[in-house]
Amino acid sequence: MSHNECDVLVVGAGIVGLGHALAAADAGNSVIVIDRDRRPVGASVRNFGHICVTGQTGELRDLAVGSRERWLNLATRAGVAVRTQAGLGVARAADEMAVLDELASTRDSVSPIDANTTREALGGAGADDVVGGALLLDDLRVDPRTTAPAVAAWLSARDDVEFRWNTSYLGVDDATDGDVRIRTSRGQIRAARVFVCVGHDLDYTAPVVAEEHDVHRCGLSMLQVADPGFRVNSAVLTATSFLRYGAFAETTAVRALATRIDDDRPDLRAADTNIMFTQRPDGSLLIGDSHHLDRTLDPFLDERVADLIVHEVETILGTDLTVIGRWQGVYASRPGGPYLTAELAPGVRACSVTTGVGMTVGLELAARHVAGELV
Ligand SMILES: Cc1cc2nc3c(=O)[nH]c(=O)nc-3n(C[C@H](O)[C@H](O)[C@H](O)COP(=O)(O)OP(=O)(O)OC[C@H]3O[C@@H](n4cnc5c(N)ncnc54)[C@H](O)[C@@H]3O)c2cc1C
Repeated sequence: MSHNECDVLVVGAGIVGLGHALAAADAGNSVIVIDRDRRPVGASVRNFGHICVTGQTGELRDLAVGSRERWLNLATRAGVAVRTQAGLGVARAADEMAVLDELASTRDSVSPIDANTTREALGGAGADDVVGGALLLDDLRVDPRTTAPAVAAWLSARDDVEFRWNTSYLGVDDATDGDVRIRTSRGQIRAARVFVCVGHDLDYTAPVVAEEHDVHRCGLSMLQVADPGFRVNSAVLTATSFLRYGAFAETTAVRALATRIDDDRPDLRAADTNIMFTQRPDGSLLIGDSHHLDRTLDPFLDERVADLIVHEVETILGTDLTVIGRWQGVYASRPGGPYLTAELAPGVRACSVTTGVGMTVGLELAARHVAGELV
């Protein structure tokens, strides 16, 4: 690859951009990846690291199953730590267990467990009111803080992939003669194909396309709490998660659960919570989350939402937690579908996941996009 020329230019070094770079390089292309930051700091490091295969239905499930294989492959090739059999649904009421049981009746990878086994899966924690749970055996888990940087570092060691950090995409200079000339904050780059994978920043990068597809930003309150002293292999989903993820939400049993939560816990609904958590390798827990949609997000976080999340997780675990970090995560959202691909100019295509499942589906989505299967 010459200094400012490559076969494929990828904009954005989050998991979606990295997936595009990997697929393009594996197909024999020279690849340059640019990112406006000096390391990945977008949604791909702010999430739970939960590859939530079980929760998906339809096309998303198909993408999740494909991505699952790609994550396992990355574990082998890139040495990324990927935990398997890493999902756990916890039920604290009969109507929650009914959702898990119904899903288990249609999916072999959902394995109901009793209350004691659920507490064991929670590392010995778990409130007295836990009535049972289910192991979500297809799910995987990665450490979100370190995984995208590790994949970027691994890719950058290849001769055919070059990363240029602190380099912003500013637009298309010319796309008329077969090659595309992209304007960046460090000069022009010429490529045969360009993939713009900037996640929710699509609204800055291609505002007209974002508006056409009604893309909003979804802001999520997230917290990190100190190591509570027990070990949980799985990403832990709870009742509000069952209302959110397609596979749970499509059960018949979920209706009664939704009605009860609407009636009894308007606070959880008002903040549009999905109370879940995962454990980092250092033992700390990533806990969340809430959802707030807007075109421009308010930068001021409501502490009451954080308190609500902490209180809920404390109640589920039956233990006090000490908050050691907070952040706002942002992902793209739109009513029309879970991802968006669009041509920005001849040879220049955008790809953003437009719901909170980019870690789950992003690698397969990227591979299909690079292969020209998504138009
Ligand atoms: C709090 C939270 C929890 C989540 N939990 C999960 C989960 O457990 N499982 C799951 O599957 N999904 C989860 N998601 C969703 C998932 O994190 C996202 O869908 C996914 O990370 C999006 O990846 P991305 O590469 O598109 O975006 P990002 O990771 O945001 O990457 C976009 C990159 O583009 C760069 N960029 C932007 N503009 C430019 C420009 N002009 N020039 C150059 N570079 C630019 C940015 O610097 C950034 O590095 C969660 C999201 C959040 C916010």
